[in-house]
Amino acid sequence: MAALIHDVLIVGGGPAGTACAAMCARNGLRTLLIERAIFPREKVCGDCLNPGCWPILDRLGVTERVLALPHAPLAELEFIGLRGQSIQLPLGDSAGGEIAVKRSWFDQVLLQRALEDGAVIRAGCTVTACHRRSETSRSGWEVEAGGETFRARMLVAADGRNSSVARLLGLLPGAAKDRVALQTHLPLPENCERKVVLRFLRDGYCGLADVGDGQANLCLVARPQRIEALQTWAVKHFGFPAEQSWRTVTPLARAAIAPTAENLFLVGDAARVVEPFTGEGIFYALASGELAARHLVAELREKNSERGWPAYRREHATLYRGRLWINQLAKQAVLHPRLANLALNAARIHPRALALLTARVVGKAHVRPA
Ligand SMILES: Cc1cc2nc3c(=O)[nH]c(=O)nc-3n(C[C@H](O)[C@H](O)[C@H](O)COP(=O)(O)OP(=O)(O)OC[C@H]3O[C@@H](n4cnc5c(N)ncnc54)[C@H](O)[C@@H]3O)c2cc1C
Repeated sequence: MAALIHDVLIVGGGPAGTACAAMCARNGLRTLLIERAIFPREKVCGDCLNPGCWPILDRLGVTERVLALPHAPLAELEFIGLRGQSIQLPLGDSAGGEIAVKRSWFDQVLLQRALEDGAVIRAGCTVTACHRRSETSRSGWEVEAGGETFRARMLVAADGRNSSVARLLGLLPGAAKDRVALQTHLPLPENCERKVVLRFLRDGYCGLADVGDGQANLCLVARPQRIEALQTWAVKHFGFPAEQSWRTVTPLARAAIAPTAENLFLVGDAARVVEPFTGEGIFYALASGELAARHLVAELREKNSERGWPAYRREHATLYRGRLWINQLAKQAVLHPRLANLALNAARIHPRALALLTARVVGKAHVRPA
């Protein structure tokens, strides 16, 4: 029988869940975070931190700790087309610019922060069931994980693109026929220091980023029937040993889910997945986790009826508005490499358009004129 009733139970210890947990706990909410992995753990990600993350990391109080991790400040973004033609965009390498850092280290710093702020963390514990304690009242939730039952007034799904909470509650949209991603780390190839290289290939695309400490992150993205061909290309191109291990995830895109319904909040990828090509998923995860926490604190502690879940829904929509067209554009580019190739050829003649698009993603201050 469950004893303690938590104010907030958060499922998932990625950037969305830990940002939400830290902000809830430091504002006095009894906060429990349940994470199925034991940290540190890697995950399928390009490891690039969009500059928009820094103000949130400042508010979380972890900027110094993140900068103390092995990482690479990124000074150049290079696009390579189908015929090997390339275009380079210099990124501003001032403080507060784009960096790449392994998710194992980054996520561990955020989890530690949530713990220090007072959140209770149950790691190595998978959520397998969740139900409202009553259909009509707002009395809260019962969540089963690791053979125990936990109770909370509010439930936050921060468990990623294949959210178990959304699936258990019948909210997860059916899997679309989408692409597969493979990811691994490898010794940094020559001439790739402080660079992100995005290469369009017939079978999909390949993203490579310097993550510091002489290592690079490599992601391959293709439709399921083409991913093996892309992997074969990468093994040859980068000279991998046969036993190289890869992490994998699918789908890369799916329909969004309404981010809240009364005492349920969805944050990060659980609510809305953004196109990985633009490297903004961590920013949206942190921002929506922080936003949800603000509304949870307002509703549970300040009894502020202007805030709470309807306001979270509105502000969540505002957070994503204005950037989604870039997401669509990036998705079309990676789904149609020949089209992307044409665009790249045009950008070699008129580099300003590509620089402007990149500036929309990483911020004007962080792209130097081409
Ligand atoms: C190929 C690829 C490249 C990408 N590159 C970048 C990039 O360079 N930069 C960028 O900003 N974004 C990138 N992204 C997107 C980014 O990885 C995600 O947007 C981000 O991780 C979302 O954070 P989150 O906290 O919402 O979810 P996640 O980081 O997925 O965290 C979810 C957590 O929930 C836990 N969990 C899941 N189910 C359960 C359960 N049942 N019980 C308990 N715990 C559970 C998981 O173990 C996990 O720790 C990329 C994505 C892909 C696929």
